[in-house]
Order: sequence, then C-alpha cells, then structure tokens
Amino acid sequence: MSKPGLIPNGQSSRRTSAVRDLIVLLLALALLALFLSFNAARFEGFGSWLTQMGADNSAIIVGLLLINLAITIYGWRRYRDTARELIERTAAESRAYEAASTDPLTGLYNRRAFVQAVGETLSFAQRQRRAVAMLIVDVDGFKHVNEVHGHVTGDNLLRCAAETVARVAPHGAVVARLGGDEFAIAFTCEPDEVSEAGRIADGLVDRLGSPFNLGGVHTHVSASVGVARSGGDCHTVGALMRRADIAMSAAKKAGRGRFVWFDASMERELEARNAIEEGLRIGIPKGEIVPYFEPQVDLVTQSLHGFEMLARWDHPDRGMVSPEEFIPVAEESGLIGDLSLAVLRRAFEEARGWDAGLSLSVNISPVQLKDPWLAQKITKLLVETGFPAERLEIEITESSLFENLGLAQAIVSSLRNQGIRLALDDFGTGYSSLAHLRALPFERIKIDRSFVGSINDSADSAAIVTAITRLAESLKLAITAEGIEDDRVEGRLRGIGRYTGQGYLFGRPMPASDVRSMLAPRGLLPGPGAAVPLPVRNEARQPLTRSA
Ligand code: C2E
Ligand code: MG
Ligand code: MG
Repeated sequence: MSKPGLIPNGQSSRRTSAVRDLIVLLLALALLALFLSFNAARFEGFGSWLTQMGADNSAIIVGLLLINLAITIYGWRRYRDTARELIERTAAESRAYEAASTDPLTGLYNRRAFVQAVGETLSFAQRQRRAVAMLIVDVDGFKHVNEVHGHVTGDNLLRCAAETVARVAPHGAVVARLGGDEFAIAFTCEPDEVSEAGRIADGLVDRLGSPFNLGGVHTHVSASVGVARSGGDCHTVGALMRRADIAMSAAKKAGRGRFVWFDASMERELEARNAIEEGLRIGIPKGEIVPYFEPQVDLVTQSLHGFEMLARWDHPDRGMVSPEEFIPVAEESGLIGDLSLAVLRRAFEEARGWDAGLSLSVNISPVQLKDPWLAQKITKLLVETGFPAERLEIEITESSLFENLGLAQAIVSSLRNQGIRLALDDFGTGYSSLAHLRALPFERIKIDRSFVGSINDSADSAAIVTAITRLAESLKLAITAEGIEDDRVEGRLRGIGRYTGQGYLFGRPMPASDVRSMLAPRGLLPGPGAAVPLPVRNEARQPLTRSA
C-alpha cells in the first residue's frame, strides 16, 4: 500500500532534532568563546574601573563568566523546551492526520485520503503526459456473510479482502477502502493502457473469488470490478471515480464475479435511469401512474373471468411508458411500495364498480414481499376502497421467494386469511422449482407467454406447456395461459387442458374507461354507468360474458 509523503516518520524526526540540538549547543559555545575573546580588551578596561572601585580582579572575571554561562544555560533550556513542544505537536498532528486518513479496520486509505492522493497522482500524471487507471472493487455477497456468520467474521473477511487488494495492486499504487465492502486502486499508466489494468482486475476477480478461511469459517464471495482510465474529458478525481463506479455497477448487473471497462453508453444509460427515478418521485404523488386492465377469459366457457391490472406511466412528455422501463427503477430506488399502493388504490376504486363475479389480478414485486407491513397495507386499502378481498388475486414470481422465504410466507398467510388468492406468475422462466410451488399456498400457475406464444412453432414450448399443465392438474391448481395472440394458439391449448387465457386475442391492456365501455353493453357494469350504451371495443370476441 502506498501513501503520500504527508505523514512525518517518528524515528527520523527524532534523529534530525538531536543533530539540530547538537549544532545549536556547539554554536552557543562558539559564540560564548568568540564573545570572550573579542571583548577581552573591554573586560580589561571594565575590570580596571572595578579595581579602582575596590573590587578584586579575578573575582570580577569569574563573576562575568558565571553570568554569561547562566544566560547560555537558560537560553539552551528554553530552546530545548520549545524544540520538545514542537516535536510533540508535530507527532500529535501526524497521529490526527493518520486517524483522519486511514480506515481503522483495514489500515488502508479511507475515501477522503484516496481522493486527495489520486488528485496528486492525476496532476503528476498530467505533467508526465501519462494517465491514471482506477479500479473500483465491490465484494459480492459480503452482506450475506455478515448476516449468516456475524460481524466478527464479516470484519475478518474485509481485512482479508483488503490484504488481497493491496497485494494485487501494482507497486506505488494508491489503495483504499472506500466504505462498506468497496475498495479502490489507482495508479499511473500509459494513456492507451488496457492490459495492465485488465490483468490486475482479472487477478482481483480470481483471488477474491477463491474461498477464504476466516478462523475456521469458510466463506465464498466474489468480486465485481469496474475499470476506468483518465483522458479525454475525464481528468478529475470525481469524473474518474464516477466512471469506475458506473463500470462496477455494470459488472454487477452482468452477473457479478467479473470486471468491466467503462463505456460511454453506460453513462447515458445511467442518466436515463436517473431521469426515470426523478420523474417517478414527482409523478407518483401526482397520480401519473395509472392502472390498465387486460381481460382474462375462461377458455372452456368463453366467459370473462376478470382482468389483470398492469401499471402504466402517463408521462407528461413521453406519453404512456411501459412498466418494464419504470418498475425495475422503482424497485431499485425504493419507490415501488408507494407506486404500487397508489396504483392499487385506483384499480380497486375502479374494479369495485364492475360485476361482482369479475376478479382482479395484481402484480406484487419481490421487493414488496420484504415489507413486513405489506399485508396490513393491502388490507387497509381494501377496507378504504370497499373492494372485496375474495375478488383479489395477487401474482408473485419465484424470485420473491429467494431472499426471505419466512417473511414471504408470513405475509401471504395474512393475505390468505383475508380471503385473497395467490398466483405464481411467469412459471417456466425461472427455477420452476417444485419446492417453491409447495412453499406457499398457490391457487394458480400462470404459464409464461414465451412458451404459449410459440406453442405451434416449437416442440419444446409445446412439451413445456403440456408438462406444466399436468403438474398443475395433479397439484389441483388452476392455470392461466398468458400471451394468446391468435386462434391457432387458443385451439392448441384447448386440446391440452382447461385454462383461463389472456392475450391480444382477447384484448390488450386498456384504460379504465375502455373497460367500462366493454362491460356496460354486456350488463357487467352495475350502477348508473351500465345504463349508458357505450361502444364495444373488442368486437371480435363478442361472446365474452360474465364468468360462471
Ligand atoms: P406480467 O405480469 O407477466 O404481465 C404480462 C405482460 O405481458 C404485460 O406486459 C402484458 O401487456 C403482456 N402481454 C399480455 N398479453 C400479451 C400478448 O398476447 N402478447 C405479448 N407479446 N404480450 C402480452 P406489461 O404490461 O408491459 O407488463 C410487463 C410486466 O411488468 C408484467 O409482467 C409485470 O411483471 C410488471 N408489472 C406491470 N404492472 C405492475 C405493477 O403494478 N406492479 C409490479 N410489481 N409489476 C408490474
Ligand atoms: Mg402478471
Ligand atoms: Mg406474467
């Protein structure tokens, strides 16, 4: 590990001050000797005057010498005290600097000192017409080790990771722990350098990805590394750190345990993502997230079963924005809870006016299933809007069950106690695990549209749809086939089993006003709205009636 030369070394400063003391002492003695020899004549005159006054000659000389000696000793002692004070103050300052610039757990630089040192390295590199390469390392899975094995093991892991990072860093590099499980390396390089930084990043991924033995506890983590280089419009510490950080996030997104070089497109992507987050912060309270509804039909009776609510963002500049664009950002930024409750409220208020036999399916994000108050929040919404719990079906995906199955089970059992039903969405795309199917009291499996849509073109898709159908039948679960776009797909499905179906054949996701227009002429909109004859949108599927 290398640090800038701002901290004085204790031993060498003590040696320097001893030499300085000796020189000062010799100088004082030399001055005294000079003073005596140059002023010998005056001492004689002054002495003869004193003799005339009756004083003894030798006594006068001794007296003068003693006074001079006393002054010299006094001066010497004052000088010693001042010098000692200075040493102590310098040592205290250096200790304070050390504490302020070092991470106490690993002994590496902290973020503040790293920024300062890289600033100096950048200036040096610019003068030498060289560049600075920076690697930001994030230990994947550190949180898990901390939670499972405790903080002592977590600290040990960080110390081992720090040693590894310092060992892999090239000679003279600045190495730091930026905070948490994040480390950084910076070093000067050629302006077009790629191979050394790549080799170091590769070494980090390799070594941090090997198992650690932490006092008998064996842990296995991995490292995501972002690499960037100064040059072009990137010539400040802030810009370089931002680029390395963006690249590190890209490495994480790409599946962790790898390194990624910064690319300008990553920055544009991040800006677009930040714009979505900012827009959501303003748009959610303003009611810009609106519910759309996609019809679900019983394929056996051809009657309308209900609707799946799908969120849309009615963006002031961009028009309708797809949930695939904004739901992941809402999940990452912690806005998904507010977004979901806001859109659920509007959907419940709307669906309350439909025929009592029509169900409403809603999607709940895996992030929401980590909120211990989720069941209470949904129940409160149902009470406030007057929408019956028995008409509500909640769709979750398998990924919801990975992080905290216990909490998900507790939330789901609270919801079930209210009479709410549970469906497993997008089955077939994830682990499709039987253990997951049994972990929660699902009443329905939804077969993903990627299999349904290609059922006539791919023998594999047909085999998967058939297998999922047999599995659901034997577990006595209802089945929804998603993504039915034409009659041929519907016909093929009818030959395999009994399904509820949804897809563009029956109707695309539509706003609440279109749902009303669709329901009113079929007598499925009780209340004043039902009396008004409204245009029918889905003319191709007239037989849609209320589910049996
Ligand atoms: P999902 O729950 O699997 O929803 C089905 C998606 O398939 C919807 O996309 C729907 O428009 C689309 N789809 C339906 N029929 C067809 C078809 O015949 N062909 C094709 N090609 N596509 C069809 P959408 O509305 O873009 O929603 C995408 C995903 O966004 C949803 O997948 C769901 O996971 C998520 N999502 C939507 N609304 C919400 C919400 O309020 N909360 C949460 N957490 N997630 C939501
Ligand atoms: Mg869904
Ligand atoms: Mg789905």
